Order: sequence, then C-alpha cells, then structure tokens
Amino acid sequence: MEERVILDVSDGSVAMTEHAVVIAGGGPAGMMLAAELALAKVDVAVVERRPDHVLADARAGGIHSRTIEVLDQRGVADRFLADGQVTQAATFGTTVMDMSDFPTRHPYSLAIFQNEIERIMAAWIAELPARIYYGREVTGFAQDDTGVDVRLSDGEPLRARYLVGCDGGRSLIRKAAGIEFPGWDATRSNLIAEVELSEEPPPGVRHDAAGVHGFHRMQDGKTFRVVTTEQQPGPGGEPTLRDLSEALIAVYGIDFGIHNPTWISRFTDMTRQAAAYRVGRVLLAGDAAHVHYPAGGQGLSLGVQDAVNLGWKLARVVDGTCQETLLDTYHAERHPVAARALRYTMAQTALQRHDERTKAVVEVVSEVASMDEPRKRLAGLISGLDIHYDLGEGHPLLGRRMPDLDLITADGPLRVFDLLHDARPLLLDLGQPGDLDITPWADRVQMVDASHQGGWELPVLGVVSAPTAVLIRPDGYVAWVGDGGHHGLPEALATWFGPPTAA
Ligand SMILES: Cc1cc2nc3c(=O)[nH]c(=O)nc-3n(C[C@H](O)[C@H](O)[C@H](O)COP(=O)(O)OP(=O)(O)OC[C@H]3O[C@@H](n4cnc5c(N)ncnc54)[C@H](O)[C@@H]3O)c2cc1C
Repeated sequence: MEERVILDVSDGSVAMTEHAVVIAGGGPAGMMLAAELALAKVDVAVVERRPDHVLADARAGGIHSRTIEVLDQRGVADRFLADGQVTQAATFGTTVMDMSDFPTRHPYSLAIFQNEIERIMAAWIAELPARIYYGREVTGFAQDDTGVDVRLSDGEPLRARYLVGCDGGRSLIRKAAGIEFPGWDATRSNLIAEVELSEEPPPGVRHDAAGVHGFHRMQDGKTFRVVTTEQQPGPGGEPTLRDLSEALIAVYGIDFGIHNPTWISRFTDMTRQAAAYRVGRVLLAGDAAHVHYPAGGQGLSLGVQDAVNLGWKLARVVDGTCQETLLDTYHAERHPVAARALRYTMAQTALQRHDERTKAVVEVVSEVASMDEPRKRLAGLISGLDIHYDLGEGHPLLGRRMPDLDLITADGPLRVFDLLHDARPLLLDLGQPGDLDITPWADRVQMVDASHQGGWELPVLGVVSAPTAVLIRPDGYVAWVGDGGHHGLPEALATWFGPPTAA
C-alpha cells in the first residue's frame, strides 16, 4: 500500500505524508492492529519511539488460549508455538486451573516472553504492507472533520483519517484526547529484574503479607529473573539495584549478592480503564485503554484482542463500506471485557497477600476453584475463550467465538480458521448447497458450502445445537446463526458489512 504525500499547492513544498490510519506505539497491540489493517488492505503506519522492535525488558511471560486462537485465525500461531512452551498457566490467585478438557485446538497457555512475542510479530508485519516509523515519537495531534494531523518528535507531521493510541499505560494519545482514566491508584509495587547472583537463591515462589517473591534461572544458567513485592509502594521513576537489594533483604534477610543487572523495572497494581475507547477520529487499544496488575497474565492478550476487534471495523469505515457508527461497537464490545478482567485481577492481587486472614480466603477460593464448574468459569475468563459480545438474543453461538471445526468442502478438508487467514468475513453454509444467496455482498463476504461431522461444543457452555449456517466476522465471532432459513441474514450482513450492492 503506497503512502501519499500531500503537496501544498501554493509553493509546491511537501507538507505532510498521509496514511489512512496511523498507530501510535508498536508494542503487541499496535503491531497486531497494523497486521489486521494491512490484511484488510488499508494503508497503515505505526510510529514507534524505540529505534527497533527490541524490548529492553522481557515483561509478559505468555499468552492465553484465545490469543493463540486469534493468531491461528491468521495462520501465524505456529511461529509462536515453535518458540514457546505449552503449559497449564490459567491461574486464579494461587490456583492453577487445568483447561486441557476445553474444546479448542489450544487448550493451554503458551509460556513465551514478550520480547520474543514482539520479535515474531515484527517479523510477521514486515511481510505485510504496513509501514513502521521507528525512532520517532508522537508528540501531539489535532483532529478535524476529515482527519487527524499527527505531530512527531522529528518535526515532520503525518496526516491520517484515524489515529489509534496503542502507546501503553501512560498513553499520550489518551491524555491529549482528554479521555478520563478512572480507577484505583497503586496499593502495592513489585520490582522485576534480570540479574546475576553470588549466592544460590531458595527454590520456588514465596508468599507473605506483602505479596509474592521468587527467582527463576534463565536459559544461560547464570542470569536470574527476580520478582519481589516492595514493603511499601515504590516511588515513580526508574528503580535502582539498591532498591532491589533493600527489597530482597526485607524479605529474605540477604540480597544473594545481586549484580550485573540487564534491566530492572517496577510495576504496580494501579487499575484503571479509559472511560471512552473513541473520541471522534482517535481511538485507544491495549494498555492505553486499560491497566492492571499482571496477576493472571492477561494484559497483552487483552490488547491483542482489542486490535483484532477494531482492525476490520476500522478498515470497513476507512474504505467507505460502513458508516462510522460501526466503530461504536468497538467500545461497546471491548470495554466490558476489560472491565471484567480488571475486576478479576484486583481479586487475584488480593489473594497474593498471605497474612493469616487472607491465607484463609486463599484456601477457600482454592478449594472452590478446583471444583469443576468454577474451574471452567474462571479458566474461561482467564483464557478469553468465554467472551460473549452482546449481539442480542438467539442461539448460544451468537456473539461468541466460532469453533475451529474440521470441515469438508469442495476444495477438500479444511479447518474453519483456514478460511479466516486473510481476515475476510465468512458465511459458512452447512445446509443444502445453494439455499443461501448473498450476491449483493459477494464482493465483501466469502461464502463456503461445507459439512461438519461431529458435535458443536463451546468452552464453559458445553454442547450446543448444530446450526445450518453461520456468519463469521473477520475477528472470528459469530454475527448470525441459521436455523434452516435465512431469516435475519440480510440485516446481519448490512449491519456488519455495509449495505447491499445494487444489482
Ligand atoms: C512485569 C510484567 C509482567 C507482565 N506479565 C504479563 C503476562 O504474563 N501476560 C500478559 O498478557 N501481560 C503481562 N504484562 C502486561 C503486558 O506487558 C502489557 O499489557 C502489554 O505490553 C501491553 O501492550 P501494548 O501494546 O498495549 O502496550 P506497550 O507494550 O506498553 O507498548 C506501547 C508502545 O508504544 C510506544 N510508545 C509509547 N509512547 C509513544 C509515543 N508517544 N510515540 C510513539 N511510540 C510510543 C512504546 O515504546 C511501546 O513500544 C506484564 C507486564 C509487566 C510489567
């Protein structure tokens, strides 16, 4: 996709470069959004302040099942699976919930550090027509009726139809757009670092009244990743080796001779969510829209899924097939998902404090979470497999993720996710071939006649009745379910993919 350069006709000088969408921030959310827009053939550019994709610290330790599924929908999950380690890591408090019985091809989490995730994502989007401006920072913007002027640190502005802030928890875009960020201030802070030690640390994870502490030996055999909870919430600003030493001595009595840090950072349990995910032509995704304590490890996964929800909608608005109101469904669908996750992470954070009274709560919760029904509900939430967008009354599939079923088609056996690789909407006709006609949308929606031998089972809900057809959005969520006829299909097509093309 070629970028356009706008010429100021009065003197012929170059005024600014234009892209349909500019994304501020090339972390996981920004890169996923860039991929989604590029697949939808939208001219997209990312502005990333770092000189390249390399992340100084490792941050997130993995992704959960639904995130692996959305990567699988685009045909790239194998790249991540090849570099990570499959594990049962859906935890609530201190309880690990085995989800190997969940009906998905990925009934597990993937242990893989964020720097690896970003490396793989950067390599993927380098294959796509998405532009990344590394080493530049968005310093402000001004929006008008037709677009947004995006100011950059190097002085050359960009012009965009839409600007998306994927610029992390301290989002400049969110602040400059005047979007409120209500929630709760930090009550605790953790130091996390990679260091070398002179003395062998104790094995395992320690919980005490302050929170959680532990050491993990890295692959090189000499570096340790250390996490410790500070006795009091630490000050803002960069933490030092001395801060880490003092925090370790407060817990273990010694600092194990920490030296040679690769990086040290601090994170807190501040929990906040943007009051609006869109103001005019400016939108937010990822940590720019929600921050929380990393208990349960959902932050990165939430951001990637924000991007997958937003990408195709923004593409359809940019290319003029849908009205701007389609973008309102982004906030309507994703805000409640993050709000719920935030509530659960606050509960999990409380469960990490092991004073005698909280320990009693931990034991009770642990007992309950190991029962089948609560285990399924909690693992459904942490894994993201239970997401249900409110698309009205109807079949249980409506608004839920489409399972990756094995299909028999005219082109041979296929998986549902194979048909979503290029991020186009899909009408899967599982009834009599030719009984559904979507000619007025055929330029936008692919239709595949298929059959599926076997049952339909959804995570948490269990077995559901087999539909005769399903309309699947590019993000993999079901927008319409057929029960033998085409009642409601034209309306669903028009709602999500624009008005019919005249014959
Ligand atoms: C210790 C720790 C452990 C964690 N563990 C997990 C876990 O196990 N699982 C999980 O899912 N999540 C975890 N998280 C959370 C996870 O790291 C974040 O949720 C995730 O990074 C959010 O991605 P993002 O793309 O929204 O934002 P970020 O990763 O913060 O990316 C924002 C990007 O924007 C760039 N940027 C910022 N401002 C500008 C600007 N003005 N102009 C241009 N570029 C800009 C930044 O350089 C950055 O690259 C953890 C976090 C921490 C700190």
